[in-house]
Amino acid sequence: MAPLRVCVLALAAVLLLGISTMSRSKGLGGQKHQRASQIPSEFSQGERVAMKEALKGAIHIPTVSFGPKEINTTALAEFGEYIRSVFPTVFKTSFVQHEVIGEYSHLFTVQGSDPSLQPYMLLAHSDVVPAPDEGWEVPPFSGLEHDGFIHGRGTLDNKNSVMAILQALELLLLRNYIPRRSFFIALGHDEEISGGAQKISALLQARGVQLAFIVDEGNFILDGFIPNLKKPFAIIAVTEKGAINLMLQVNTTPGHSSAPPKETSIGILAAAVSRLEQTPMPNMFGSGLLKMTLQELAHEFPFPTNIILSNLWLFGPLVSRLIERNYITNALVRTTTALTMFNAGVKVNVIPPVAQAIINFRVDPAQTVQEVLELVKNIVADNRVQFHVLSAIDPLPVSPSDHQALGYQLLRQTIRSVFPEVNIVAPGVCIGNTDSRHYTNLTTSIYRFNPLYLNPQSFQSIHGINEKISVRAYETQVKFIFEFIQNADTDQEPVPHLHEL
Ligand SMILES: [Zn+2]
Repeated sequence: MAPLRVCVLALAAVLLLGISTMSRSKGLGGQKHQRASQIPSEFSQGERVAMKEALKGAIHIPTVSFGPKEINTTALAEFGEYIRSVFPTVFKTSFVQHEVIGEYSHLFTVQGSDPSLQPYMLLAHSDVVPAPDEGWEVPPFSGLEHDGFIHGRGTLDNKNSVMAILQALELLLLRNYIPRRSFFIALGHDEEISGGAQKISALLQARGVQLAFIVDEGNFILDGFIPNLKKPFAIIAVTEKGAINLMLQVNTTPGHSSAPPKETSIGILAAAVSRLEQTPMPNMFGSGLLKMTLQELAHEFPFPTNIILSNLWLFGPLVSRLIERNYITNALVRTTTALTMFNAGVKVNVIPPVAQAIINFRVDPAQTVQEVLELVKNIVADNRVQFHVLSAIDPLPVSPSDHQALGYQLLRQTIRSVFPEVNIVAPGVCIGNTDSRHYTNLTTSIYRFNPLYLNPQSFQSIHGINEKISVRAYETQVKFIFEFIQNADTDQEPVPHLHEL
């Protein structure tokens, strides 16, 4: 959804700054923690054909979310039948329990052999945003294969993940794999509009489940976002911004335009929203994740960036000003203020009794909704303006990304194994919201990462036109999850590592 796109914006933003963070960590202790019994992630020609055909079939089912109350329930029901038909082993394995939640969401519980290991969860969503045919090279729900790509809505957001997770599990089960660590797979059906994930979350909480970590959609491996950075760059989002939709309203006495009062509802409100637009929320660079990340990895940068970033006590204000200058990177260091709606007036010659405006704030992880609302009232500083909070979500807590963070280190280890050419992995912020926000009751470790390369062109296609995934990239995504599930069977705690200087 939009979250996906804005997560990537955040990554791109870091890249725009010319900042590259190389981390050569051995993650969970490197090779010596590879289990001897690990099943190789090699797939036969027949399996590879079957996996791409399965994805094509999934794209063909138009599971569109049009709006909060408008979802294609026929397609969602068909999708439920479809996954049963293409992943028969998943559905008939005794230690895999399947439940339908909220009519169209799916929860799989994969029982591991070692109850002492804390379970984790993989998330994805099966609904997609609408895709009118116009502008597409091939019809968006055709799932056609062309020039090595599978085309269609949902190939990147997010049926690729739904299918790849189940596909990886199917292939593991066919190889008689039994996991040691239990895990859940939660496939939401209304991520693009609200969040049926709430029901799954409540159910698991009622069952007393606590998760070691969650992996959801979000960030990618970025490639080609800045011309002078040749190396691909993986960022795992460890937090996401909050959001507030705030309505401002001014009521005045209606009157005739032939004898207008000194101030009208429109004038008062326009002045108020203008003050908000002209007064940015405070720059949180000093207390934000971005600063921590840059400091942690400063020594990996070439001269002179390494010196600047190693000395943020001195250069912090300079770096912070550079970041503010670009409207995309600006969103990484503060709560943003976007004036999105303005309604007033009924007739050309009537002074309107009421004027309303809606402002969309994206709340920096270093602030709370309440703090932002206080600031807004102080900036407006006019008691004729009423405030109505239409909706508000606090930013998500920052998940750990240190050497002891199991989920983060498992992702890093699997990136190193599946994408050996990627030696840049760093934590980042997601500017939007994902389904994972409904699961904070189950874990403090939520990571948003899609094991796929993304270039600027494919970035545009998410929620846009000509969304597509290469057959090879999809196979690699399956391989990633296939390895990740096995890597998660480790009972080793992540170990400290030494940077290779
Ligand atoms: Zn999505």
